[in-house]
Amino acid sequence: LAEKLQDTFDKLKGKGKLSEKDVKSALREVKLALLEADVNFKVVKNFISKVEERAVGKEVLDSLTPGQQVIKIVNEELTDLMGGAQSKVEYASDPPTVIMLTGLQGAGKTTTAGKLAKKFIKDGKDPLLVAADVYRPAAIKQLQVLGERLDQPVFSMGDKQDPVDITKAAISRAESNGNDVVILDTAGRLHIDEELMDELSQIKAAVVPDEILLVVDSMTGQDAVNVADKFDDTLGIDGVVLTKLDGDARGGAALSISSVTGKPIKFAGVGEKLEDLEPFHPDRMASRILGMGDVLSLIEKAEEEMDQKKAQELEEKLRKNEFTLEDFMDQLEQVRNMGSFKEILNMIPGVGNKIKDLDMDEGQLDKIEAIISSMTKEEKRDPEMIKGSRRRRIANGSGTEVQDVNRLLKQFKQTQKMMKQVGDMQKGGLGGKMGG
Ligand code: GDP
Ligand code: MG
Repeated sequence: LAEKLQDTFDKLKGKGKLSEKDVKSALREVKLALLEADVNFKVVKNFISKVEERAVGKEVLDSLTPGQQVIKIVNEELTDLMGGAQSKVEYASDPPTVIMLTGLQGAGKTTTAGKLAKKFIKDGKDPLLVAADVYRPAAIKQLQVLGERLDQPVFSMGDKQDPVDITKAAISRAESNGNDVVILDTAGRLHIDEELMDELSQIKAAVVPDEILLVVDSMTGQDAVNVADKFDDTLGIDGVVLTKLDGDARGGAALSISSVTGKPIKFAGVGEKLEDLEPFHPDRMASRILGMGDVLSLIEKAEEEMDQKKAQELEEKLRKNEFTLEDFMDQLEQVRNMGSFKEILNMIPGVGNKIKDLDMDEGQLDKIEAIISSMTKEEKRDPEMIKGSRRRRIANGSGTEVQDVNRLLKQFKQTQKMMKQVGDMQKGGLGGKMGG
């Protein structure tokens, strides 16, 4: 979608003065691009007529940069389509805040439960995860594994109890344990059926959640929109979590879901890892769709992941010239936590389109980590000591080749040298360096 729109807009921008005909034909292309991206037909029709009304106005056509103006209008209307302003989860004034996750099987409920818990922990909360999916094999185990990784309690009563009883008992547990947020991971089905809706309605009536979030898979396009419509009609939802946006090239669900349901998209899942959940910003998503990159999200992500304390420690090490292979690995880890390289590059304006067909070698990072993990403590501190036989041992231990180890050591040496220069510069101050 982004590419199609960009092509259309490139034509507009190159034109200088626009006629009503130019705008209309550009909007026809926008319309086709949206339909091809699986955006709901009614939504498209409505959208185009709104944009057209604004874009063929006198101010636009008479302005010095009519092409830019049209793009701006499209951007604003896309933002509006996705719900306008960003909306968040509000904490209840009387804790615990109960969040009920619903959705079809495989949509990403359990994963999202873990991701949300991580967010809440970062926010200083102490969430209780609740395993209320008693049908899907291994669903309870899946949540328990996430709980362990987060070092956070998981409430479960096995798979023989009624989900309504489980959720009621979970709330009491949260109250006695002092958990200020409760995340209910409920069961899904392959399709919406009455039984599922009944069960969810009963849970809703029993625990009165503060937020009912519907989790939908963005890759299912219009199906996701239909599911959302149904859930909102029968159960009533407060917002949507759109998962697997990382694999969704078309963006149809993101564009139609909130205008069809009238409910906001609150979060976007952008990968399988626990940190791969972002607050959904309609304006940024609109820019991303228009191919303008998403610099703000990138900065936010970097700030979140770059551990402040670690950064300070690193600075200290730079000053003292103690940058080791262990630090090197730490750094790689931090960059990795920000997402895949491709994901990061994608957020830089202008880069998105160029790299979409590029196959990034994430495996390279795995290799480096394996190699460093196969070294002894002494070797990590003093790579100079890693000679022939040690290199062979490390290669064997990490399942790589000696050349890989050689390459890594060379890379590290270069990094160390660069770090030393930066360190010296900080030590002597910029002026000193330049003066010398
Ligand atoms: P549930 O049945 O609704 O609980 O779904 P799960 O949480 O078990 O997720 C189903 C699959 O989708 C799992 O393999 C997850 O790793 C994957 N998944 C969930 N969210 C995302 C996402 O945002 N991006 C990607 N790429 N995969 C996801
Ligand atoms: Mg599940």
